[in-house]
Amino acid sequence: LGTLYVVATPIGNLDDLSKRAIDTLKQVQRILAEDTRRSQQLLTNFSIRGSLTSLHDHNERQRVEQVKAWLAQGDDLALISDAGTPLISDPGYVLVNQLRQDGFNVVPIPGPCAIITALSVAGLPTDRFCFEGFLPAKPSGRRKVLQAMSEESRTWVFYESSHRVLECLKDMNQVLGAERELVLARELTKRFETVISGTCEAVMAVLSSDSNQCRGEFVIMVKGLPEVTSAPPVSPELLLQELLPHVS
Ligand code: SAM
Repeated sequence: LGTLYVVATPIGNLDDLSKRAIDTLKQVQRILAEDTRRSQQLLTNFSIRGSLTSLHDHNERQRVEQVKAWLAQGDDLALISDAGTPLISDPGYVLVNQLRQDGFNVVPIPGPCAIITALSVAGLPTDRFCFEGFLPAKPSGRRKVLQAMSEESRTWVFYESSHRVLECLKDMNQVLGAERELVLARELTKRFETVISGTCEAVMAVLSSDSNQCRGEFVIMVKGLPEVTSAPPVSPELLLQELLPHVS
């Protein structure tokens, strides 16, 4: 049986493609890619002469049987997405889930991922965090999710696109309050990499006053609220012991 390698690719800086990723992409018989034209540029850059097959949200289900047949005949395959780690807000879940259920080998070749890259420089607690993917595009849906997350004590992280980032910050300002602390990571590993931290109001002001700051790709990280610790329960015996001396 062949193996499916799930290979992480750069989120901006091409030098972040690991040696193991390059060796794997050179060695496999076929590379499954979200956007074959885009991935061709990456492969050309590293002189990788792989055979590309598309695998995206709209054809992933149909591809599963074909992929199983290739693996069954002993071919090794690689799965890549446009940027970062496949399956993380990217195609691949349906395929990997099915292959694992059917007993095929699935091997990770780890590397860049925007969430982890952003958290590593945000200066927010990272011992526990929750990832929310992309927030809903519609304001009403977005506000609902923000409301539901508003009491969360862990750091929460999500992806946002350039055309919605300012709107999203405005909703956060309204739902979470102007004083909520957040960190905005933009264009990580690229030329205009920027990491801004501050209150919701302050970060929003930076973007409102400079449209260049609204360009590119974003990870938004929100500081969780301190956990509310309720007082430990008091035993009735202890309470009685404390009170009795005061009863006349
Ligand atoms: N699979 C990818 C990963 O591992 O990070 C994420 C894919 S998701 C479709 C694309 C989103 O990731 C972008 O809209 C943006 O929110 C975030 N992203 C990707 N590259 C980024 C970068 N260089 N800087 C900031 N955010 C980035």
